[in-house]
Amino acid sequence: MTEPHAGLVQDQFLRILTREEAVRQFTEAVRPAPLGRETCPLAGAAGRVLAEDIRAAVDAPPFDRSVVDGFALRAADLAAASQAAPVTLRLNAETITCGHAPVLTVLPGSATPISTGGPIPRGADAVVMIEHTDPEGEAAIRVTRAVTPGQNLSYAGSDMARGQVLLHAGTLLTAREIGMLAAVGLADIPVWRKPRIAVLSTGSELVEPGQPLGPAQIYDSNGPIIAAALEENGCEALRFGIVPDDEARLEAALRHAHAEADAILLSGGTSKGAGDLTWRLVGRLGAPGIIAHGVALKPGKPLCLAVCDGKPVIVLPGFPTSAMFTFHDIVAPVFRTMAGLPPREESRTEARIPARISSELGRTEFAMVALAEDAEGLVAHPVGKGSGAVTAFSQADGFLAIEAEADSLPAGSRVAVTLFSPGIRIPDLVIIGSHCTGLDALVATLRRRGLTARILALGSLGGLAAIKRGEADLAPIHLMEEASGVYNRPFLTPELDLIPGWKRLQGFVHRKDDPRFAGRDLEDAVAAALADPDCLMVNRNQGAGTRTLIDGLLKGARPPGYWNQPRSHNAVAASVAQGRADWGIAIAPVAAALDLAFIPLADEHYDFAVARSPRNLAAIEAFRVALAKSGDALRALGFTPG
Ligand code: AMP
Ligand code: MG
Repeated sequence: MTEPHAGLVQDQFLRILTREEAVRQFTEAVRPAPLGRETCPLAGAAGRVLAEDIRAAVDAPPFDRSVVDGFALRAADLAAASQAAPVTLRLNAETITCGHAPVLTVLPGSATPISTGGPIPRGADAVVMIEHTDPEGEAAIRVTRAVTPGQNLSYAGSDMARGQVLLHAGTLLTAREIGMLAAVGLADIPVWRKPRIAVLSTGSELVEPGQPLGPAQIYDSNGPIIAAALEENGCEALRFGIVPDDEARLEAALRHAHAEADAILLSGGTSKGAGDLTWRLVGRLGAPGIIAHGVALKPGKPLCLAVCDGKPVIVLPGFPTSAMFTFHDIVAPVFRTMAGLPPREESRTEARIPARISSELGRTEFAMVALAEDAEGLVAHPVGKGSGAVTAFSQADGFLAIEAEADSLPAGSRVAVTLFSPGIRIPDLVIIGSHCTGLDALVATLRRRGLTARILALGSLGGLAAIKRGEADLAPIHLMEEASGVYNRPFLTPELDLIPGWKRLQGFVHRKDDPRFAGRDLEDAVAAALADPDCLMVNRNQGAGTRTLIDGLLKGARPPGYWNQPRSHNAVAASVAQGRADWGIAIAPVAAALDLAFIPLADEHYDFAVARSPRNLAAIEAFRVALAKSGDALRALGFTPG
């Protein structure tokens, strides 16, 4: 084992590799290959990867068989049969059920009763369905229509022929493939050994889901995400859980993982920040050690790729979205090869981008996208840009990468989208605009009626722009025209109409135990806030209807906190509840959810812009019906319908 010199490690971190160079050097050092064959029983084969081509050892079906209930006969006997001129056939003295090998030959002028799945007897070349016959006494039938030779039977090997390659090496076995293996009688399946990958989350702030969250703590998202993504890619995740930023404990966990697993996948602690020691320890695990630390990716720059005594050791960046991009783009291909799987073709698709996306020159930039469909095909809407938040996954279907040499992607570019999970589901309704909890209730109603909707929270203005471009079916907006005080309608173009939604009461929110505001009315509360130089406000973003109200209240004043301008009611309420600010303006349900005091100010109108001639009229109608029926649910959430 070589111990990298501290200065050398520092150099490596400063030497940022391009994405392509990092992948090349890492692949060269790992030389990924399947880990060896083993046999697994058919019952345990789901999720395994075939190590060999599978040939059928027997025909399926193994004999010619009937696919209907009826009578096996000679088609030539029925050549002249019709409703007007039925043909009578003598019944042979045997009935062929499933599992019964026939003994009697079907001679001209005769027929043998046969069940679905029964073997076709010698002499017969077709089966007539029982529905097209009538009994004639005990021992004969009358047939009212002709059959062609071969009709209603399937020939031996027509499903799978002996010797035929059924499944190719590298196939991930699912229920479908397991059915094929069973049908040709295979019990022991040659598979690749599953790579066992240790998954560790590092960070003293991390808490296991299910445990209570203390101050300044967050749940470990990366561990569960990465473990699940590994399993989707043919690997077994060994869950090592959370390791705090403590050198001795982290080193012990790493050595344990290195001994147990075929590779280690960590997240967090790879930046140059204080307490970021993961990469230092990785360098000590074995030779050759760190291959790349610092890759020209955005986000994902601190990615650290190492090989220690033949085992890949990878440190993903801590931010869940960065961890996800780097996993899918750089790590998954290596592990898929180790699992014996081919590149993940099914999880890529092509789409068009609706608007220009700018990008940093010199770094491969990833952008999460949500897919929708318009008249010209799939559209990839960028979502959650730069948020680093795991919740962006709820809106995103996958991501695209913008090459390092490009400073932007022009509107209308066709791009390859890597899907987070294979299979795209395009929703019936694409709703782009401002988000509201009332909208969630409405979407739940739609779901129960079988309609799917995707909500992209891009704000009122983002929604209006999207619906004007034809990319959204509905745009929920709450925009006030300053001069008139009128909501939403003044912002429509002639092609757009407005579906009235609901009103949301906005008010002055403060902590219930704040003596400066208790018992005051609105005017007094604002005056009290402005009178106290220690009182901190939280504002709203320019362009928000609420901001217009706030500016009206402040009458030109710029109290402390004015420049703190989050984009949502929730952020305002959280800021006040946690004591980052002392007051702000938010809607009543959000204030109630965080147990804040609320002094009413004004109603905000939350309505839906819709095209006058919508793409999916039936879905819009269903939306109107759901809206009409959601009155009680909306009132229960604190909104006033209409
Ligand atoms: P780090 O790379 O350790 O500096 O972490 C960067 C950011 O990602 C910090 O905000 C961390 O709290 C966050 N983070 C790190 N690990 C995780 C994890 N396992 N789950 C969720 N967030 C994480
Ligand atoms: Mg950390």
